[in-house]
Amino acid sequence: MSAESAPHPPAPRVTMPAAAPYRGRFAPSPTGPLHFGSLIAAAGSFLQARSRGGEWLVRIEDLDPPRTVAGAADGILRTLEAFGLTWDGAVSHQSRRQEIYRDALSQLDALGVLYGCSCTRSEIADSSAHGIDGPVYPGTCRGRQRAGRTLRVLVEDRELVFQDLVQGEIRCALAHEVGDFVVRRADGLHAYQLAAAVDDADQGITEVVRGADLLYSTPRQIHLQQLLGLPTPGYAHLPLAVDTGGRKLGKQTQAPSVSGHDPVPTLIEALRFLGQPVPPALRDTDVAGFWHWAISHWQIERVAHHTPAVTGR
Ligand code: GLU
Repeated sequence: MSAESAPHPPAPRVTMPAAAPYRGRFAPSPTGPLHFGSLIAAAGSFLQARSRGGEWLVRIEDLDPPRTVAGAADGILRTLEAFGLTWDGAVSHQSRRQEIYRDALSQLDALGVLYGCSCTRSEIADSSAHGIDGPVYPGTCRGRQRAGRTLRVLVEDRELVFQDLVQGEIRCALAHEVGDFVVRRADGLHAYQLAAAVDDADQGITEVVRGADLLYSTPRQIHLQQLLGLPTPGYAHLPLAVDTGGRKLGKQTQAPSVSGHDPVPTLIEALRFLGQPVPPALRDTDVAGFWHWAISHWQIERVAHHTPAVTGR
């Protein structure tokens, strides 16, 4: 993926809608408590939605039972509340939407773009070039009857282009940078790419604001939207909070969770991370006062497209 030249023309342009009414979302995976990196995604998507008078939904991405931690979803919701991040409507849970994902798979199957794959991880690693997000699947099982339980979707040899509100123009040739990708895993679980593409459309999301670790997922989700005849929302990928070793702050790096006990200083830190000016008086305000100020002064143009200075977390 690159933000520069177009190695594989022609480049069909994805129409960026963001038609009113604005609807954004925060989609945490309940694999642990909310940490600073997720707070950035939550705050950025909330500010973008509320500053446009839009709605902000919360979707619990509990697609993967082995990774789901008991009580984590509730903990995340309570922490969001403590930070004054109040959502609209009912919280949705991907674990309760399996039928919708099955229908999407049937639709893809009817289009003839799915195939079963029985390659193991090491077979793929051995026979692949390295792409933007791991090995590029070389298409080993394409057109074969290997009857694997993993389902992959065919990608096309063309470049996808989208305009990211923070990262600028992003171009990606899926065939060269990702390969045919997994939409249902061998264990029968639906893949994140499929569920996110389907849910964003089903929930009427007009703009997805999330962490830049998912920038590489967006072309896959746009590909699925196009196959399924779903609208493509606008996208804005926020810089990632990293630790002093340059690693993404998250559950994998055992980042400390954020506490809702004294929310304003943490919110100020998040706002500063998002490139927004922070007047000293904001320190003396309460959560409601903080959001009132932050929403009315929010400018997504100020968000850095690269990772800002390493935080001490
Ligand atoms: N569930 C993903 C995460 O917690 C976010 C997915 C998304 O925003 O599309 O990192």
